[in-house]
Amino acid sequence: MQCDCITDLEKRLADHMKPQAGETASAKCLGSALFLGEKSLESGLNIAFRITGDKRGFTSEKGKEMPVKANYCPFCGKPTAKPETPAEAPAAS
Ligand SMILES: [Zn+2]
Repeated sequence: MQCDCITDLEKRLADHMKPQAGETASAKCLGSALFLGEKSLESGLNIAFRITGDKRGFTSEKGKEMPVKANYCPFCGKPTAKPETPAEAPAAS
């Protein structure tokens, strides 16, 4: 992620929930995940989809869960991937 939205929201939600949850309230985004990038691990947002179908393993109502990486932060709109460095960027023509 190129932004601190998730960390910021976790802090703000924990503070907001202190009256109900207590002084030790904490919040953890369940959709944040590490993804294997081309050269390193990158943090991102994982949005789960349920896949069902008529083949084995997909026939139940539960189906199978498939994680999909968000390309943009849903809170600020910035791209989640790190920008390419000039050496990696394709040459302009
Ligand atoms: Zn953001």
